[in-house]
Amino acid sequence: MKIVVIGSINMDYVLHVANLPKKGETITALNYHISPGGKGANQAVAAKRLGADVLMIGALGNDSAGLDLCNRLDKEGIDVSGILFTDTATGNAMITVDEKGSNTIVVFPGANAKLEKTWVGNFREEIKKADCVIIQLEIPMETVAASIAIARSYGTRVILNPAPAKEIPLEIYRNVDIITPNETELAKLTGTEDINRGAKILMDRGVQEVVVTLGDKGSYYLSNERELIVKPVKVNAIDSTAAGDSFNAALAVGLNEKLDMEASLQFSNIVGALTTTKIGAQNSLPYRDEVDRFKK
Ligand code: ADP
Repeated sequence: MKIVVIGSINMDYVLHVANLPKKGETITALNYHISPGGKGANQAVAAKRLGADVLMIGALGNDSAGLDLCNRLDKEGIDVSGILFTDTATGNAMITVDEKGSNTIVVFPGANAKLEKTWVGNFREEIKKADCVIIQLEIPMETVAASIAIARSYGTRVILNPAPAKEIPLEIYRNVDIITPNETELAKLTGTEDINRGAKILMDRGVQEVVVTLGDKGSYYLSNERELIVKPVKVNAIDSTAAGDSFNAALAVGLNEKLDMEASLQFSNIVGALTTTKIGAQNSLPYRDEVDRFKK
């Protein structure tokens, strides 16, 4: 099973502080760590750990963070030949978290903004051979549109995770097989908090199937044929970071393993839930044997 992930790769710099700094204030952090992130990279790692062959298409800077991130993906066993090294700094997020868990986040897209459609065009053959392309919205919209059009021209399944939510041109909707917003993204894209109504609006824009992730309420599915509400599994959730990312990867893996939609969503719910049981982004993404053990 081959999955191509097209998207962002970031380094997250996380400072733990007693209280978030006020304007003009300098404070001392209690703790600091860096962690690899970016929705694209998270989804690539998740898919690989679930058993897929993964090609990552993305962009990094020619800097130490870029090299580090590329090495980490390589060590996971992901094909990193789709990563473009640019003269722009590697994308990053500067995150401060206070003792109550409130945070401020500044994201610098950096090299992610340099992922151009011409670069993705170099991987037409790989996209053609793939079972599925997974893509998000942390790279230029023009690149998203072109990538999805290539996949559609070869009949490769496209999963669009519309995160972060922003206005999406109609030509993109028409080329997407499955769109996977969470509840907040669905509301932002459609202007309604009603899940069924929102999903119908996305289908009217041309998407074939809609999957809405509902956090601790599981997931929801709508197509022309049917509507499903798939119950969550019970876990001791401590940090929901990257739950949506692993859910998307699991959906691609489940469908590629010829599970039907309901079974794929049950599998994805388990993978998303397991991700919430550990702190962090990529280090919380479960391996296939953990998922299989949980199923039993
Ligand atoms: P996002 O991270 O994009 O906001 P969600 O929070 O909706 O995505 O989580 C993705 C999926 O992970 C959910 O659809 C659900 O299957 C699973 N999940 C998330 N949080 C929990 C939880 N507390 N308990 C059980 N499953 C969860």
